[in-house]
Amino acid sequence: MGAAAVGATGPAPVRVLVVEDEHAIATEIARRLEAEGWRVTVASDGLSGVAANRAERPDAVVLDVMLPGIDGLEACRRMQAERPVPVLMLTARDDETDMLVGLGVGADDYMTKPFSMRELVARLKALLRRVERSHHAAGAGHGGPPAELGDLVIDHAQRRVRRGVDEVHLTPTEFDLLACLAERPRTVLTREQLLEQVWDWADASGTRTVDSHVKALRRKLGSDLIRTVHGVGYALEPTRPV
Ligand code: CA
Repeated sequence: MGAAAVGATGPAPVRVLVVEDEHAIATEIARRLEAEGWRVTVASDGLSGVAANRAERPDAVVLDVMLPGIDGLEACRRMQAERPVPVLMLTARDDETDMLVGLGVGADDYMTKPFSMRELVARLKALLRRVERSHHAAGAGHGGPPAELGDLVIDHAQRRVRRGVDEVHLTPTEFDLLACLAERPRTVLTREQLLEQVWDWADASGTRTVDSHVKALRRKLGSDLIRTVHGVGYALEPTRPV
């Protein structure tokens, strides 16, 4: 990807696009990510964010929801339509995250403001690792025939999912979450276990991310496939086609 930094001897630095209209927050995020040795581009409205994603081809995007011009939701849709890129979305409230998941904008992770910079970096690193891993899995062909669980078919090699005859498009995160649940069907996995295994990230404050992505999976695959065990976690319940 892209040109290496001047004088860099290692791999090209991670490149992150930050789309945030609040200057103070954008600057703080940029400063923190640059301290990781990453290269940061800042855009302050939705349309320039989409343009910067096209021009800079970043490894990940941090995208605020409330933006002038087109909002983060529409910006995310346009970015994903042009080239798939991992997106961490910044929301003002938890219920805003729920709304976005319901609309299926295709973000890979969500953080509610205010958040700590340490947490932002941890989440971005986990996101980048997950995307890297999924590229490796696709490249290495993660052998074996597709796994069939009732009417659900998970093709690890192609990272594709079908339910019945319908192919269902999932984001990398959604795919990994489904694959994790499908490894142990009918077994309840706690939010913490899922967070650690799918997100490589162990911090109770992130368990809402798990809930958001389960909602997204239900919206795409049907509400009967993943059972909620209240106060504990989730289990995948394979169902036979009728
Ligand atoms: Ca904003």
